[in-house]
Amino acid sequence: MSTRGIPFVDVSGQDRTMQADIEAAMSGVVRSGGFIGGPEVTAFEEEFAGYLGIPPGRGCSSGTSALSLLLEAADVGSGDEVILPALTFIATAEAVVQVGAHPVLVDVEPASYTIDPVAAEAAVTSRTAAVLPVHLYGTPARIDPLLTLARQRGLLIVEDAAQSHLATYRGRPAGSLGDAAGFSFYPAKNLGAYGDAGYLTAADPALVARAGVLLDHGRISKYEHAVIGHNERMDAIQAAVLRVKLRRLRDWTSNRRAAAARYDGHLRPAGFKVIDAPADVDPVYHLYVVEVSNRDEVMCRLDAEAIGCGVHYPVPLHRQPALAALGYPDGSFPHSESAAARVVSLPMDGVLPPQAVDRVCEVFLSVARP
Ligand SMILES: *Cc1c(COP(=O)(O)O)cnc(C)c1O
Repeated sequence: MSTRGIPFVDVSGQDRTMQADIEAAMSGVVRSGGFIGGPEVTAFEEEFAGYLGIPPGRGCSSGTSALSLLLEAADVGSGDEVILPALTFIATAEAVVQVGAHPVLVDVEPASYTIDPVAAEAAVTSRTAAVLPVHLYGTPARIDPLLTLARQRGLLIVEDAAQSHLATYRGRPAGSLGDAAGFSFYPAKNLGAYGDAGYLTAADPALVARAGVLLDHGRISKYEHAVIGHNERMDAIQAAVLRVKLRRLRDWTSNRRAAAARYDGHLRPAGFKVIDAPADVDPVYHLYVVEVSNRDEVMCRLDAEAIGCGVHYPVPLHRQPALAALGYPDGSFPHSESAAARVVSLPMDGVLPPQAVDRVCEVFLSVARP
């Protein structure tokens, strides 16, 4: 952090605290000459599951591929419908479309911005195969009502855990809440690689094994391919980087929670709508989001003061050109649409200091209107 500017996400600031170890781990991979899969990936796969307390899974090429591989491994495809929230990153829907299934959008709950279980239930048809709740901004979706629904209707629950490493719901970790889960290690995520990487896991080891075959060309032995698969493996360099960074994830998560509490302390009393996580979840604040009625003006002022900010997400899925064919008219998902028009994301990362939060709030409160 410079004396004045505050970046939106200070990835390199986080990593600076362990740069020598990260570089040594990367050099180790270079010297080994094994760049894809191998011992670093296997070790990371075990360590990540152990650290989070989730079922053992497989490293893969991205969060998007984690989700699509899980759906494909569970035989979700053509003719199937998959229910997901309208307010999320496009990748949640991409995973569904990539396996040939049909995305069915539902609204989010205005307090938490996560999928509304009642809306999800209303969207179930005889063709529904799965529900894809997103733990948006690091807040676990209300899973128990979805699990009840899933058990009644024979649906698969695949968590989009791309933003929720170490978040918990009723004491259970994100990634262990449904039948399967996909994580992302995109560099700006709570745990970020030095490129693209992801992780897939499932309660049923057979599902993980099938996805593991799919991600490596359908390979079942060196020269034998049981099915036509994909090339979606994790690189050894990413695994090596992630193994080092994983050791700090708990500290970084504590810092995110402390920074969010400090933001809340400034912004709630001033009448601003922030993330209202249910009492039985412990969010990890991948993003710190606040609603305003004059977003352009707020972002302009933050920018002028060298304070980074963003919008997640300004365009709900049903308004994306790529998904226009789904045919949802404007007004279909009022809470998602309202959030998309009003949210702004303030600086947040694992090393954001309290004084930076105070400074951001000082500038924010001088211009923002609820
Ligand atoms: C980042 C993200 C993804 C996709 O992860 P990639 O690793 O970038 O493919 C999926 N869903 C959500 C909600 C995300 O934030």
